Order: sequence, then structure tokens, then C-alpha cells
Amino acid sequence: MATVKLQEVVKVFGDVVAVQKLNFTIKEGEFFTFLGPSGCGKTTTLRMIAGFYYPTEGKVLFDEKDMTKVPPEQRNTGMVFQNYALFPHMTVFENVAFGLKLRKLSKSEIKIKVLDALAKVRLKGYEDRQITQLSGGQQQRVALARALAIEPAILLLDEPLSNLDARLRDEMRMEIKRLQKEYGITTIYVTHDQVEALSMSDRIAVFNMGVCQQVGTPYEIYNQPANDFVASFIGETNLFPVILSSITEKSIIVQLEDRIITVKNEPLNSAEGIDKGPVSLSIRPERIKMSTNPIGVPNELEGKVELIQFIGNAMEYEIRWKNYLIKALVLNDGNEIGLKEGDPVWVTLNEDQLRVIPRITEVKKD
Ligand code: ATP
Repeated sequence: MATVKLQEVVKVFGDVVAVQKLNFTIKEGEFFTFLGPSGCGKTTTLRMIAGFYYPTEGKVLFDEKDMTKVPPEQRNTGMVFQNYALFPHMTVFENVAFGLKLRKLSKSEIKIKVLDALAKVRLKGYEDRQITQLSGGQQQRVALARALAIEPAILLLDEPLSNLDARLRDEMRMEIKRLQKEYGITTIYVTHDQVEALSMSDRIAVFNMGVCQQVGTPYEIYNQPANDFVASFIGETNLFPVILSSITEKSIIVQLEDRIITVKNEPLNSAEGIDKGPVSLSIRPERIKMSTNPIGVPNELEGKVELIQFIGNAMEYEIRWKNYLIKALVLNDGNEIGLKEGDPVWVTLNEDQLRVIPRITEVKKD
């Protein structure tokens, strides 16, 4: 196990700045995820930690030791690639034994470690199979066993589940988490899938266009997004472009179109470091309250139900208010609200549930 620290890390390819000024520390034994859309610099960052790329600027430290220019084979990392990168002409045993042979272990030691790694990924008895005789999920397990067999200090996983179908992905998600806990190994996981990131990680770094936007626990990132990019990339949210007009001890006052909206000024939503002027207002669909009649509370908007979708455990509503389509999610508890498409509806943006956050992206109106 080891800590991984990135200090002011920059990577430039020709005239493309792949990542800019990355600064974070991954703790010992932590499951840490790089999350972001395609091309945001996740793989480049992982490859700098593996040693396949060297940073243009900055440092990579393992346990405070400078590894910036150390070649991959001297880093004690195990890597699983998106396409698994298994050797198709070798058996399962030979694939898993590969790194151990390079390390010049004895035949008997290799056998013990390979069988142990295969047992851990639940592939006991598959030693003599050819890679081509395995399903995608089994190949994935072999790739994991190969990475774990060398007992690395750090496990690096680059979109390891993206080639699997939805059911297998769910299964492997639990499997990887189980293995990570069992080995207690510092793990860095790259994905663009927010469900994977939220469900597996101790902490997440959210990337966009080569910049790390926020580092936090899944709970922090969902409930206190650092800006509108993070709010919209992680889970669903309603984002409104607003003008912050004043901040008092108790409230943050913003203008949304012709309406004044009050937001509670509290630690979860302190608006600290946010200046007056254009900002975003965010509220999650499951926090929207709806009523068939006006109730006369603050932040009440009169809208019209445009679409209702039943998704089993919940109902999804799309409510038209001016140029906006507000999404609301109501858990199916057996009680019907009694709304149908076309009905007027009163939507409350509860002042406890709103977040005022910096606006870094163009906010899309419907
Ligand atoms: P994906 O999820 O699609 O793999 P990513 O977030 O992992 O994306 P990177 O592969 O790290 O993104 O790429 C970041 C940026 O750097 C992109 O603009 C990409 O085109 C560029 N880039 C990555 N590798 C190279 C390279 N070897 N040469 C030139 N440009 C590169």
C-alpha cells in the first residue's frame, strides 16, 4: 500500500494541454476515482502514475518518494487496461504468471501466487484455458488476477468495465470493490460512468477539460458540487442561471428571470468565495416539491406538467416554467399526487435544498 501525491502536474502533447496543474493526494488503501467525460485527461493522469508518460511539469510522489521519472517496471503498480491487453496466445495461467516471471520468482512461488490470484477472482480451475475460450467477464477477471498477482502497492484500473454488458458490469463492480477491500490496496479507477464512481469510490476527482474540478467523497460531490459542471455531471440536477444580488447572515438572494429566490445561507451552501453577479442555482429532482394548488410559500413557481414517466420505483415529471423544463422525481410510495400531463402545478424550490454555485459552463435553457 502507498500514498500517491500529484504536485502541480501538467501534461502537454504538442499543442494539446491534456491536464493542467493537478494537485491531490490519494491516501493509503483508498479507492480513488478519476471521473469525467471523454478527453478530459483521466487516462493521461493514470498513465503518468503508471509511468507510461512522464509529466511535462510537476511531480508524482509515492509515499513522499519522487517517482516522476521512474520507469513503469520499477513502480510496483498493477494495471488493468480497458481492452484487458491479455496475451491471446497464452493460457490463463501464463497470462497471470507473466509479471511474476519478469520478477524472476521460482516456479513453485509462481504457481502458488497464480493459483491464489485466480482463486481470489473466482477463476479456480481455469488455469489451462486459452484466453480466446473465455467470456468478456472472465477475461476481465484474468486481467485483474494478473495485476494483483504481483502484489502491487497501487492498483490502476482504466475503464475496466466498459466492454461488459450492463448485468456483468454490475457484478464486476461488486467484485472489484470486494477484492479492493480484501487486499486493502490503494486503487485508482478511471471511468466516465458516474454510477460506478459514486457506488465504488471512497473519494472522486471530477475532471473536465484537463482541469480537476473537485475532489471529495461521493456524498460531498453529490450534495455540495463545486460548480455547475460537477452538479450536472454527477446525477441529474436542475440548473438555473441566476444573478446573485445579496448575501445576508441567513440568506442568499438571487434573481431568476423576474423572480427573487431566497436560498438558506448555511455551511452546506455557504456561498463562500462566490461573488455577486452571474452564478448557477442547482436543485436535485428528488428535492423538488410539487402541489396541485398554490401553497403560498417562498420560491413557489407556477408551471405546467409537460411529461410524466413511470419508472417503477418513482415517477419522473417534466414541468414547464417559462423557458425551463424542471425535472422532479417522486418516489413511488403508493400515494398518487393526482397530476396528469397538461395540468397546472406549483413547484417549490425549497430554500434548504437549493445550492448557489459558480457558473463555469454555458447553462442550457430548454
Ligand atoms: P477517454 O475517456 O476518451 O479515454 P480521457 O479523459 O482518458 O478520455 P485522455 O485520453 O487523457 O482523456 O486525453 C486527454 C487529452 O489529451 C485529449 O484531448 C487527447 O486527445 C489528448 N491526448 C491523449 N493522449 C495523447 C497522445 N499520446 N498524443 C496527443 N494527444 C493526446
